[in-house]
Amino acid sequence: MIVADVDERFKDAKEVLDEVNIMINRIKRGNNAIGKNLTQYCIYCGKGKYSKKIIPQNYGFNKNNRFDKLLVCDYCGNIQIFVCDVWNETVSKNETI
Ligand SMILES: [Zn+2]
Repeated sequence: MIVADVDERFKDAKEVLDEVNIMINRIKRGNNAIGKNLTQYCIYCGKGKYSKKIIPQNYGFNKNNRFDKLLVCDYCGNIQIFVCDVWNETVSKNETI
């Protein structure tokens, strides 16, 4: 909300209100905050944390497809997969979403 770059600021109170309502709905739904430097707790077991791992199995994926953001829970092994071009368009441009 407060950024140095003028072009990235909200233009008026309506934009601020819209963003606040989006955040309220995300909190109500229990959505995850996503960010490069945020700890991602496992959505399945709730105990472990996700980390990007290189795993010997490719689970049917190869390096030519769009799925190379593969996070694995360090406690239960739950896997979350992100489509890289979507991730790069959103998460990588924002510190936190
Ligand atoms: Zn887990």
